[in-house]
Amino acid sequence: MSFPHPEHDHRHCVHDALARAERLCQERGARLTDQRRRVLELVWQSHRPLGAYELMDALRKDGKPVAPPTVYRALDFLIEQGLVHRLASLNAYIGCEHPGERHSGQFLICRACGLSAELSDPAVAAALSREAEIQGFRVEQQIVEIAGLCARCQEDAP
Ligand SMILES: [Zn+2]
Ligand SMILES: [Zn+2]
Ligand SMILES: [Zn+2]
Repeated sequence: MSFPHPEHDHRHCVHDALARAERLCQERGARLTDQRRRVLELVWQSHRPLGAYELMDALRKDGKPVAPPTVYRALDFLIEQGLVHRLASLNAYIGCEHPGERHSGQFLICRACGLSAELSDPAVAAALSREAEIQGFRVEQQIVEIAGLCARCQEDAP
């Protein structure tokens, strides 16, 4: 996956993400309720990871205030279904760009504009797993978060 271009038609991203989610949940018999769907749509409102409180604000603006536990439960569901990743370094959530495939995400996170791109190189994941195995460590979850500056923000920097 490449870094999102600022002028790309983001409606397509949202549309595709929701369509994929609906299909996957249907195949698995998982219930994508209106509320879960709306939370997913909000997570996908941009390619910037979004915090739970920003999500709650957006739901309040919908005129449908939601209690924090409900939002966290919706997020847990979306993470379980592989539709959303949680980025620990930001304590924020980002829509998965290729749900339905087993993968461990690697994220490039721009510290200036906040945009994030998901990479998924099986070779990177395999190298990390191998190193963990050498240590006798059993990997349960592998998310790599890489902080830095995207190409565009480097241009803007003096
Ligand atoms: Zn987009
Ligand atoms: Zn992903
Ligand atoms: Zn940037």
